[in-house]
Amino acid sequence: MTHAFVPSSNVAALRESATIAVSARAKALRASGRPVIDLGAGEPDSSTPAFVAAAAATAVANGATRYTQVEGIQPLREAIAADATARSQLREPVSASDVVVGAGTKQALFNACFTLFGPGDEVLIPTPAWTSYYEMIALARATPVAVRGTRERDLKVDATQLREAANPRTRGLILNSPCNPTGTVYSADELGPILALAADRGWWVLSDEIYQRISFDSPAPSALDVVTSRERLVLFNGVAKAYAMTGWRIGWAIAPPEVAKTMTALQSHTTSNAATVSQHAALAALTCREQADSAIAAMVAELRRRRDAVCSLLRRAQLDFIEPGGAFYTFVRIPTESELGDGSDFARRLLEDRDVAVVPGAAFGTPDWVRLSFAAPFDEVLEGVRRLIRELS
Ligand code: PLP
Repeated sequence: MTHAFVPSSNVAALRESATIAVSARAKALRASGRPVIDLGAGEPDSSTPAFVAAAAATAVANGATRYTQVEGIQPLREAIAADATARSQLREPVSASDVVVGAGTKQALFNACFTLFGPGDEVLIPTPAWTSYYEMIALARATPVAVRGTRERDLKVDATQLREAANPRTRGLILNSPCNPTGTVYSADELGPILALAADRGWWVLSDEIYQRISFDSPAPSALDVVTSRERLVLFNGVAKAYAMTGWRIGWAIAPPEVAKTMTALQSHTTSNAATVSQHAALAALTCREQADSAIAAMVAELRRRRDAVCSLLRRAQLDFIEPGGAFYTFVRIPTESELGDGSDFARRLLEDRDVAVVPGAAFGTPDWVRLSFAAPFDEVLEGVRRLIRELS
């Protein structure tokens, strides 16, 4: 007798990450010989800077091959704390004991959601938003509440909308600026009233700032630039995007010490420390300032060039799209009044008929849009956008 697999109630409603699924499909088509242009990627197309890779090799040669403290090596946590303190306008410094390093920002976010939220809690998610927030909140058995941004505000939300979506069960809010999938950046003036509302209501604010150093027009503000206290704030960042280190899997949370301690306890029963060699690589990325700054500046300059070219093509085609101020995505609306179907139908056809991969907006809570990434070579990005425009017209 065979027994069918029945997933446990922990994961019964879990959906595969749509962004990763698109990437996998594009890679499979490429492997079968199709000349697919991948505008679905969620990672920089550049390589990790050579000085970082060299520091990792040296660390391994010097014996950095064993377990470390669960929360990460002290010098890395000190470097993260010093960096945050330098950026913060608050009087009390960020301390290494506020920092928990995990296997990517994704793990840090999951640990925080699991630590702070549980059954009966509601968490506001300005939408469109990165696909994993909804799932992480649901895995913690809390309820994600999508608050849809308005078109006039480039799909960002304001404090009034959040207030209207809240109720006594609301326990938290997840912010992400610059935003995946739209590339929009919240100004300090926009963040101010949102953070003031959260403080007034005692909500936890989870501020995912992984794209903070990839901004094109002016520096993207951190929640740290705006808050008056870190009592209910958890900040997230990592080396994946700005330092082109996605595969090294290092991200972190900066949280009030008792939250950091509980997140560490949780991590001690799942993965323990993030890979030791990767922690040393991240330490080099954060402390060899000049080399890191020049690598980031070069990457941002190239991304800005692509952003400008993409926006100019989309504008000329008179499409409705969000002009990104940061990250490496733009969001294009698929007019549902035509026979094109929604963003998912459109993305499927674009891949099958024109060999261009984009991510359907449904993955981010907005089915009538698609996300395209310009983290691909300049000419490929422009050719992909031209094909998208042809498919839409
Ligand atoms: N947060 C956002 C908004 C992201 O887009 C991503 C990756 O795509 C992550 C977090 C995860 O980053 P990491 O690779 O550090 O786990």
